[in-house]
Amino acid sequence: MDYEKPLPVPSADTAPFWDGCRKHELRFHKCKECGHIRWPPSIICPKCHSMAHEMITAKGTGKIFTFAVYHQAYHPAFEKELPYVVAIVELEEGVRLLSNIVGCSHKQVMCEMPVEVIWEDVTEEFSLPRFQPRSS
Ligand SMILES: [Zn+2]
Repeated sequence: MDYEKPLPVPSADTAPFWDGCRKHELRFHKCKECGHIRWPPSIICPKCHSMAHEMITAKGTGKIFTFAVYHQAYHPAFEKELPYVVAIVELEEGVRLLSNIVGCSHKQVMCEMPVEVIWEDVTEEFSLPRFQPRSS
């Protein structure tokens, strides 16, 4: 395995999300009682305490809620990507996901910027969602 950055460690709760990522789908638990989309994943709804849920696949579009530009690498594998952008992306479904903004200069990144998911297939097991500026 050549990938040098830290990889996710799926738990029973998060495994369905990472299984979806491998198929390039953003999957979330949606509460069958109140409709709340659970993120981070959990077996109990944080709003109404129901355990009933269904899986939904998000469209993969949203906007930048907030972001930070990293000018220093805190892990050696990130050094060649400096400066890079870590952002909280708010998906159209309402979930706020921590990810990276790629495909543009860090100087172009702004809050509220429309973005769409792209996939980085980092190993056989893991594909990671990143976001790039939306064209339309
Ligand atoms: Zn609920």
